[in-house]
Amino acid sequence: MLWKCTICGYMHEGLEAPDICPKCGQGKEKFVALSEEDAKKVFESDRTNDIHMEIVQLAMKIKDLAKEGMELNLDPACVAVFKKAHQDAWVIKQRSKAEIEQHLKKGKW
Ligand SMILES: [Zn+2]
Repeated sequence: MLWKCTICGYMHEGLEAPDICPKCGQGKEKFVALSEEDAKKVFESDRTNDIHMEIVQLAMKIKDLAKEGMELNLDPACVAVFKKAHQDAWVIKQRSKAEIEQHLKKGKW
């Protein structure tokens, strides 16, 4: 069973709603149970958002590596590859971040 705090949107998984919302501190009565269909959507979008966030982190790692490579400046061909990787990683990161933002606006979390 998935419960949603109607005050702050916090999601709780369990047989019953929590006594106190861990986020906003409101009582049990502020929680509503989601339908099975809605709960399924929440679980799916939760995993999807986690994947987007992991992609963002990996892209940041690529950016750091590319930057280090550029600084080592071994030869122009290497630096060109690192520059391209740096740019591509930025695009990958921004795409996933934009998608997460869309999900948040639509309440898909
Ligand atoms: Zn709450």
